[in-house]
Amino acid sequence: MTARLVLATHNAHKVAELRAVLEPLVPDLDPGDIVSAADLGAPSPTEDGVTFEQNALIKARAIARATGLPAVADDSGLAVDVLGGAPGIFSARWAGSHGDDAANLALLLDQLADVPAAHRGARFVCAAALVTPDGREHVELGELRGTLATAPRGSNGFGYDPVLVPEGEQRTCAELTPAQKNAISHRGKAFRALAPHVARVLADDGASGPARESDAR
Ligand code: IMP
Repeated sequence: MTARLVLATHNAHKVAELRAVLEPLVPDLDPGDIVSAADLGAPSPTEDGVTFEQNALIKARAIARATGLPAVADDSGLAVDVLGGAPGIFSARWAGSHGDDAANLALLLDQLADVPAAHRGARFVCAAALVTPDGREHVELGELRGTLATAPRGSNGFGYDPVLVPEGEQRTCAELTPAQKNAISHRGKAFRALAPHVARVLADDGASGPARESDAR
């Protein structure tokens, strides 16, 4: 398989999401054209940036350098208005241990227990970065605004989905289907905004040939 683009993630769902966004924009995109960093055995860098944009760029730069392929990375989280934008870049480890969704959610609900509905505004934020091995860089931001419910509802999705009710919705993100969430989500918006830039890089590389000629696997 000849990869043309690598996504800095270990999450197969994100690869499928990016592929679905790019397919209409890149007519000759083959299923094997987009691979994950995990597929190529690329190491995960330390995410020591202080913004979503910085962390997305850190990941994309590291993967582009390690693989010699254009790389896309995303970094995302929940920003709560009354917490001044926290948990923000600490969303995945708000309760201490990385990726403990249930503990993160429980802690957040405790912290907001006395905050009335009118002040429970929050948003999911995603930064999606594209970096090429020759140093071209582009970042796009996507947001999904809503309010936080007082108790979790729904079983779809992950992370803070059971408490974020998007603007104009009655349901939490965890009560939406994956397609309904992708259509309005921070990640969907950021990937869709980045897609034309990815398409241009793939078209340029296809015309000059370097990515096609080097089999990254
Ligand atoms: P990641 O950087 O995309 O892996 O996301 C970091 C953390 O932000 C996740 O562990 C979740 O806690 C939170 N998060 C990001 N996006 C979402 C989402 O779409 N729904 C719920 N939680 C999210």
